[in-house]
Amino acid sequence: MKTYETVIGLEVHVELATKTKIFCGCSTAFGGAPNTHTCPVCTGMPGSLPVLNKQVVEYALKAGVAANCKIHRYCKFDRKNYFYPDNPQNYQISQLYLPICYEGSVEIETSAGKRKVRIHEMHMEEDAGKLIHDEWEDCSLVDYNRSGVPLIEIVSEPDMRSAEEVIAYLEKLRFMMQYLGISDCKLQEGSMRADVNLSVREAGTKELGTRTEMKNLNSFKAIARAIEGERERQIELLEEGKPVIQETRRWDDNKEYSYAMRSKEDAKDYRYFPDPDIPPVHISDEWIRRIREEQPQLREEKMDWYQKKLGLSSYDAGILTESRHLAELFEEVSALYGDPKKTANWFMGEVLRLVKDKGMEPEEVRFTPSHMAELLRMVDKKEVSPQNARKVFEEIFQKDINPVLYIEENGLKIIEDVKILTDTLQKVLEENPGPLEELLSGKEKVFGFFVGQMMRELKGKASPEAVRKALAEEIAKRKSETVPMD
Ligand code: ADP
Ligand code: MG
Ligand code: ZN
Repeated sequence: MKTYETVIGLEVHVELATKTKIFCGCSTAFGGAPNTHTCPVCTGMPGSLPVLNKQVVEYALKAGVAANCKIHRYCKFDRKNYFYPDNPQNYQISQLYLPICYEGSVEIETSAGKRKVRIHEMHMEEDAGKLIHDEWEDCSLVDYNRSGVPLIEIVSEPDMRSAEEVIAYLEKLRFMMQYLGISDCKLQEGSMRADVNLSVREAGTKELGTRTEMKNLNSFKAIARAIEGERERQIELLEEGKPVIQETRRWDDNKEYSYAMRSKEDAKDYRYFPDPDIPPVHISDEWIRRIREEQPQLREEKMDWYQKKLGLSSYDAGILTESRHLAELFEEVSALYGDPKKTANWFMGEVLRLVKDKGMEPEEVRFTPSHMAELLRMVDKKEVSPQNARKVFEEIFQKDINPVLYIEENGLKIIEDVKILTDTLQKVLEENPGPLEELLSGKEKVFGFFVGQMMRELKGKASPEAVRKALAEEIAKRKSETVPMD
């Protein structure tokens, strides 16, 4: 068999996190009773007129600037005509001739190193409504709440060669949008949707093969499986001497096979023409300059900074920046406390563990940074034991309590009283004569057992170091007392 190369280009739809829709004042909130976030504009009533939401242009510019795009200073909207029940105007307002952003690129990181994926364009458009097929009642219902929600469609050049690269590219876009604060990009909720265009060609050849477009991919796993499945299907056709037909296919992730949906339509099928209801938008240099100046630190820059300036490992830097919100919280605690590495350890250990245990999103974590910094300082000053500090932190995490007051009120302050320590030690040794004998005869493993017993007895309110020291001294003393005489 010949060797084949896979060629992939992506069309990614990203729902923008504006409060209101692109051409009317209706809410973009997800959910809501069907058809409650609607008005004459977004239900396509005759005579209604769209008014462009400036925030959509602002967000599209942010995305374009971050992806190194050129900007069309004079940008227009076009009508893409097609009939479908979820599209009440019978056309979608989109951009064909002068998309707001064009000719950009992003860098992706794969196991084989860095690669560049060129962006052909990013354009603004409105989302369609949602059809709900009710099999029980044998009818279809339509909900226009999503109709008119703003989207940017990001069209890549056919620069990707594997599922790994596709996923790296999608991750890249997702982090970019999240850090810019313009979309949450959730594949599962549909705020990020990817159509995969795929063709194969004999390795070494230059010409592109005929492509198919796959829709209905709502997880990274499904995307990876769809790419593998479609690649195999196309290679099989070519090996049998049959042509690949340019068409839109629907990936069925359960059956792991794609099905032809419709033959691929061309731009001419849509009879695009400039939308006469929306005046062109002029984008000033001043506007673009402001966007550039206001651009927040993106994930790669943060990761770089964490490693070079804060001394964290690349692994920790990667995990801590997976959510911009958590990264910023980490930075605030670290700045207040002064030790980035120790702060990072607590975030990697305690914060992320609690996020997982409570089934939360990292974005939902809320506590006062100084509360955590204060607790870490108390651990350093040995005012609270590490074990109890973890319990106190859980209270901070859940109720944002003040650790100083909480430790005071709950009697968790470390016992520094030497008498209590030695009394407890005597008691524990007395209660466990067997293990004591083992320890005295040199079985070092039993040491940990006694430390545990002590900590339990003292309810964790002792520093483990102090306990270990007291125990070691006591054992040494007893050993010297029992040294056999010659
Ligand atoms: P259309 O206008 O029909 O949607 P485009 O030329 O805009 O087609 O391309 C859509 C997407 O398909 C782009 O992401 C592009 O990179 C990708 N693409 C185009 N040709 C190929 C091909 N032969 N193989 C793989 N991907 C392709
Ligand atoms: Mg297209
Ligand atoms: Zn509306």
